[in-house]
Amino acid sequence: MKAIAVRPGTPDSVHLADLEKPSIKEVADDRGVLVRVLKVGVDATDREINDALYGQSPEGYEFLVIGHECFGIVEEVGSGVKRVKPGDYVTCTVRRPGGSIFDKIGRSDITSEEEYYERGINLRHGFLTEYFVDDEEFVVRMPQGLKHLHVLAEPMSCAAKAVEQAFLAQQRLQVWEPKRAWVTGAGQIGLLATLALRLKGIEVWTLARGKQEGNLKAEIAEGYGATYVSTAEITLHELAAKYGKPDLIIEATGHSGIAFECMEVLGHNGCIVWTSITGGKRDINVPSDSVNLNWVLGNKMLLGSVNANFRHFESGIADMALGEVSWPGVTEKILTNPVDGLENYGEMMRLLVEDRDALKVYVNVADE
Ligand code: BGC
Ligand code: ZN
Repeated sequence: MKAIAVRPGTPDSVHLADLEKPSIKEVADDRGVLVRVLKVGVDATDREINDALYGQSPEGYEFLVIGHECFGIVEEVGSGVKRVKPGDYVTCTVRRPGGSIFDKIGRSDITSEEEYYERGINLRHGFLTEYFVDDEEFVVRMPQGLKHLHVLAEPMSCAAKAVEQAFLAQQRLQVWEPKRAWVTGAGQIGLLATLALRLKGIEVWTLARGKQEGNLKAEIAEGYGATYVSTAEITLHELAAKYGKPDLIIEATGHSGIAFECMEVLGHNGCIVWTSITGGKRDINVPSDSVNLNWVLGNKMLLGSVNANFRHFESGIADMALGEVSWPGVTEKILTNPVDGLENYGEMMRLLVEDRDALKVYVNVADE
C-alpha cells in the first residue's frame, strides 16, 4: 500500500512509503476492524512533524506514516465486533493506551505517563495510507448525514473536549453560567470551539489576526452567530475594556505569547483552556506580579487540554449534527483545500506550509 511518511528527526523528509496491507487478525479477541481510507485531513501537527520538531517512528520502522484525522468506510470486521459493520462510515481516535490507570479506563487522552502513543504522531503509524486496522474500541461511527464533514470529526473531538473540560473544572464554583466566551484563533479548533460554545447559547467572540472583509474565517464564525474580531484592529486589552472581560477563553492561536496575554484579560472566576501545541522556542516577558495578584484575587483557573477520547468524538459528532441543523452549510466551509491522491504529498505539504488561506487541507485518498 502507498503511504505518506516522514523520517522523524530529518526535516522536510515527507515521501511516499510502502506498507503491507493490514489484517483484522492483528487485533486480539476478534475485535479487529479493517477500514478503507477515503479522506485524511492534515494540520499544523503534520507540518511540525515534517519540520522534525517532534514525532517518532513505530518500533522496527525508520519512517512514520503521518495523518491523524481520518474518514473511511468499514470493509471487514472480526466476529467479536459489535459497534460497526461493513459499509459504515467511520473515523478513529488518535491516542493509544500506555500503562497508567487513566489508560486502563479508556482515558488515554489524560494519560499520566510522559511517553504517549498517537497514530500518525508518535510511535504509531497514522492514516495517510490505503487501509488501516484497529480495535473496535477506537473506531467511531460517523452518521451518513455527516459524511460531507468527514475529516473534521477529529479536530471537532479536540474542541469538544476543551469545552467539556472547562465546564467540568468550573464545577469548583458550584454555580457557573458563563455569559461571554472568547475563542482566540480561528483555525479549525477555534472555529469548531466557536460552534460548540454557540450551541450552548453563549455569546462568543472569535478573535484572529485577519481583517474582517472578505475573510472566510470571519464568515464562518459569524455564520455560527459569533462576533469576529480582528486583532489587527483592536488589542485584547482594548476589547476587554470596551465590551467586558470574558468568563471563558478557549485559546487556539498556536502562539504562546497570546496564550499568556489571555491571562491578563480574563474575568473573575473565569477559566482559560489552552489547546495550542507550540513546538517552537519562543520566550516572552509576562507581567507576572500583576497576573499573579489578579489570578489569586479573582479565583481564576487555567487548564491545558490535548487529544480526545471516544466519548469526545461522540459528543463532537453530535455537536456537528446539531450545528448542521442550526446553521446549515457553515461547517463545510472549513474544508477549503482538497488534494487528490496520496502521490500528491508534495502539494499537500506545500499547501500546509505556504498557503496562508488554506484553512483545512485534506487528501482524497480514494473514492467510495
Ligand atoms: C491532534 C491530537 C494530539 C495532539 C498532540 C493534535 O494535532 O489532533 O489528537 O493529541 O496533536 O500530539
Ligand atoms: Zn491534530
